[in-house]
Amino acid sequence: MFAMLRNLCVAIAYCAAIFLPQNAIAANKAVPGTGEQTAIAFAARIAGDSNRTRLVVDFDRKISFKSLFLENPNRLVIDLPDTIFSFGGDQQISLFGLIGGIRYGAIAPGRSRIVLQTSSPTRIDNSSLQPHGDKGHYRLLLDIVKTDKESYRNTIFLQTGDIGNSGNVAYKGDRIRRKDNKNNKITVVIDPGHGGIDGGAEGKHVGAEKNITLKIALKLKSELEKSRHLKVLMTRTADTFVSLSERVGFARRNQADLMISLHADTLRQKQIRGATIYTLSKEGSDELAKNLADKENRSDLVAGLALPQQNAEVADILIELTRRETKSFSLQIARILVSQLRSHIKLIKNPLRAANFHVLRAPEVPSVLIELGYLSNTDDEQQLSSDLWQQKAAEQMRIAIMNFLRPKIALRGK
Ligand SMILES: [Zn+2]
Repeated sequence: MFAMLRNLCVAIAYCAAIFLPQNAIAANKAVPGTGEQTAIAFAARIAGDSNRTRLVVDFDRKISFKSLFLENPNRLVIDLPDTIFSFGGDQQISLFGLIGGIRYGAIAPGRSRIVLQTSSPTRIDNSSLQPHGDKGHYRLLLDIVKTDKESYRNTIFLQTGDIGNSGNVAYKGDRIRRKDNKNNKITVVIDPGHGGIDGGAEGKHVGAEKNITLKIALKLKSELEKSRHLKVLMTRTADTFVSLSERVGFARRNQADLMISLHADTLRQKQIRGATIYTLSKEGSDELAKNLADKENRSDLVAGLALPQQNAEVADILIELTRRETKSFSLQIARILVSQLRSHIKLIKNPLRAANFHVLRAPEVPSVLIELGYLSNTDDEQQLSSDLWQQKAAEQMRIAIMNFLRPKIALRGK
């Protein structure tokens, strides 16, 4: 347990370290549409014991904050305006008392968040935001104490307002639509895994998965854009958090013909290496696939969102038929990817697998999730961070994707 907590601290320190240099320059910029200035949280610490634990965060200016509780697991979320977190590095936050984990980062444009994982149900006993020192700084103090399960549930029940989606998630009314693609281009959505507050997996030497997936996604984008038949979109182009449902919604709203989600996670079995191509299946092809999907589906949880909802089974024969057709297309692109990648990059044993990945659930968009390798394996880690290898992987993915899309391109051209 102790080792786990330590690792988390290291991970956090790393994220903060890479946040600081670029973002510090952008400080003091007005956040578009809010009139608010970006705040800098420059120090944080946790103190106390398991009866009473205190979180202290120092800001360079006055901020507004809102707290809310979540369960499964128990978390306390502190919503903040646009904030740069510049602590970390040498100044790691040690975890104490009731706080077993801490994450922080951007969650949507103009919004940041601190998520504390608590070891038991808690309540806020005392909170304050007071001027601190004579430089216009403000100090946020938050004391939490244990509470019983029932009161905790009650608090959660009574919480009003937004339990924290990251902004624009209104596609409930989205239905399967006819293509209305005036320029006859084929739309490919690239989905770089994780981002913002959700760093994803953590390589020992190369840092967060979110940065690796973004780099490879950008390379894949410029590869695919070599074809004039394609319109290539990305679910994120910077280090921002995008919820899993938003990723799915993005592909649907843009009527994507294909969605490729890119990842590079860790496995408990450190010897396992190589790329894996995943398609959607409720049951999951094997234990490894199931575990990985569970982990990926927790992305929203890390950001302090509710767990992604299981698909409400829609009793609609058209959607069901579409789903079946989509499934066979997804399998087809997965197979093409395996056979193309096989002779160029290292694949895992049984590289074609399936599991219940939330991000693959758009009923009408053929989608695959590619784990390009595993950051838990030293050789994979090295490759994943190599510019040359990333480029090679992007090229090979492009060849496979074009092979898959060729019949569609021919049809669309008529
Ligand atoms: Zn991942």
